[in-house]
Amino acid sequence: MTLNVNRIKTANWDDWLIPVDYLVIHYTAVDLQDTLDIFMNPESCVSSHLVIDTDGAIYELVDCLSGQACRGWHAGVSHWEGVQGLNDCSIGIELVNYNGNVFPFTDAQYQSLHQVVARFKEHYPNLRDPQRVIGHEHISGFRGKADPGVLFDWPRFYRENYPELTAPLRQAVCPAVLQESLMLLKESEPESPEAKSQFWRSVSLLTETTVRLIQEASEPSAGKEPSADKESK
Ligand SMILES: [Zn+2]
Repeated sequence: MTLNVNRIKTANWDDWLIPVDYLVIHYTAVDLQDTLDIFMNPESCVSSHLVIDTDGAIYELVDCLSGQACRGWHAGVSHWEGVQGLNDCSIGIELVNYNGNVFPFTDAQYQSLHQVVARFKEHYPNLRDPQRVIGHEHISGFRGKADPGVLFDWPRFYRENYPELTAPLRQAVCPAVLQESLMLLKESEPESPEAKSQFWRSVSLLTETTVRLIQEASEPSAGKEPSADKESK
């Protein structure tokens, strides 16, 4: 299948090939333009391989669709199943969404994800295993990362992309009481696109801080790990 892809250059990547063992799903916390601006700004030190807008448009910032993946800066300090630093072995996809604990993802985004995952399964044998697809919150939740969030429909994702295989359980880190509070902020969002994007970016930082504090309170050793790797939101 031909993929309709917009190619954008990011300054934030490493020009070497990585083994692709995992696929990591994120939300952007800002709109498409702000996302691309951040990923093209060398001072931000963040990127992801792909961005998928709310209308399903696909942007490739770090090579991955051709069958070889370079190293993106999306995961940051992270661990999963004994593996540390998932930037070294994963592809990152950012779904444009102000906060996946507040706003649902669009049908167009799930459809584009389906196309992209089909391509990845051709190129990267490890990604034929649904266990290899995870959220940023599952590998960096100890730092407060809460994406893709409560409203990313993992059962739908697995049903559409791995229909023959048992779907893993993927639980969001954002507690219900926090999610309910975040939902109330929809009533306070500004109207202009620029202000709205800034508003929700701040809300996502607040979300991360709150999740981290809750995790640290329940597990005092959480969040105390070194923070030195580059990453996305
Ligand atoms: Zn993320």
